[in-house]
Amino acid sequence: MRVAFCSSEVFPFAKTGGLADVSGALPYALSKKGCEVKVFMPFYKGINPQKNYSEYGFTKQAGVEFFFIRNDEYFMRDYLYGDSCGDYPDNLQRFSFFNKKIFKLLKKINFSPQIIHSNDWQTALANIYLKLLYKNDKFFKNTKCILTIHNLAYQGIFEREEFGSLGVPWDYFNMRHLEFYGKINLLKGGIIFSDMVNTVSPAYVKEIQTPDYGCGLDGVLREKRKYLCGILNAIDYSVWNPQIDKLIYKNYSHRTIEDKYVNKRMFQKELGLKVDKNIFLLGTVSRLVEQKGIDILSRALDHFLKKYQVVILGMGDEKYHRILKKKANKFKKSFSLNLKFDEAIAHRVYASCDCFLMPSRFEPCGLSQMISYKYATVPLVYHTGGLVDTVVDISQKGGGFVFSNYTSADLISALNRANQIFTEKKKWLKIIKKIARYNFSWEAAAAKYIEMYNKTIKEGKSQNSKCKSAIQN
Ligand code: ADP
Repeated sequence: MRVAFCSSEVFPFAKTGGLADVSGALPYALSKKGCEVKVFMPFYKGINPQKNYSEYGFTKQAGVEFFFIRNDEYFMRDYLYGDSCGDYPDNLQRFSFFNKKIFKLLKKINFSPQIIHSNDWQTALANIYLKLLYKNDKFFKNTKCILTIHNLAYQGIFEREEFGSLGVPWDYFNMRHLEFYGKINLLKGGIIFSDMVNTVSPAYVKEIQTPDYGCGLDGVLREKRKYLCGILNAIDYSVWNPQIDKLIYKNYSHRTIEDKYVNKRMFQKELGLKVDKNIFLLGTVSRLVEQKGIDILSRALDHFLKKYQVVILGMGDEKYHRILKKKANKFKKSFSLNLKFDEAIAHRVYASCDCFLMPSRFEPCGLSQMISYKYATVPLVYHTGGLVDTVVDISQKGGGFVFSNYTSADLISALNRANQIFTEKKKWLKIIKKIARYNFSWEAAAAKYIEMYNKTIKEGKSQNSKCKSAIQN
């Protein structure tokens, strides 16, 4: 199976969130199962390919080929999508350039994919281009396209005036295609033009078909429901594994769990918190945006910080930076606030904390709860999306703490419940040893993707033969 995997971020080359983790792991898992996978992403600042041409860079790793599409004016910037002033104003031009180039490059390297697998709004355009610009091109005659929605809240919405830059006929600027309340909506177009659409958890695929979670696209998704499915994300255990992790203080596993507390003590010291194994240490690594529950978390902080220690690593909305900075000033001894993107600190949060906080208002899948399990850190989550699929409350023999009213009060009460068990050392130890053995590896998820690819190709073939026989008749 030949797959062109298109993504705007791929770990370790460029990352702002979970999309990069998925794009940096799934291609390898597909390749291990026999797919020929080529990954396409922009050539951002800081990427050092093995080969560097004027139009693209190239790297091959463990059987997977990576193509970095080059345009220095568009991609040699400090951030991927925007800076503190907001999204880059030329994002539509940047990503339409990128998606157009994918097709040119596919021809140049003579790789005619059976599947173009796009991810989120940034590459939804690849699927739109396949169906609008390349529909009669023999090179792509047997190519089907899939769109994975990692987060429906980000849709790639642009002003109508920019439509000309897309390079598709104006006929498609209408409600049935790319128009969304007078603007351009790339994710909507991607959903409509893709042969199959999936999201990253079974619960989220149901949620997004409802007005509450549909972000205005629930109707479009309901119409597409025959071609819609949910495949739970997974974790790359070659990156996230405390036994081999080079970014933590001391390696450990469920068999040497005491060494987790070496990490805890060293981390408390690094952060300037009181070094004490018995103080309940809570952490989060997150984009600091409304989705992630930062509003209820910050309101609850006054309560926790009197009793527990908290470490937050994240970047996001200025509003939350301000609120959290105030708390950090107030609770110098028990709160460590790290307003940055830092891979090494992230690993140490997962390894050192007792509990990982994930009070997301909505969560397509969430990776941090699964990473936390591996590091024997108990996730505490709001009951939504992928968190429903991956976290069962301890009271139901699961491995986490779940609260089901989206309020600070419920968050606090779940946390107090967690602390109560934390003080019962034997019980806590049993729980963390259990969760460290959970398995959320990519193998099973990759098999599901291949099943989806096969289904898409098969349906395409039967549609083609139906068309042919209709023409013959
Ligand atoms: P999302 O994609 O919505 O941001 P996920 O839970 O799917 O959320 O994935 C988040 C990923 O990004 C995780 O690997 C997490 O550790 C990482 N991450 C988020 N913020 C930071 C940060 N400030 N520094 C380092 N890693 C971060």
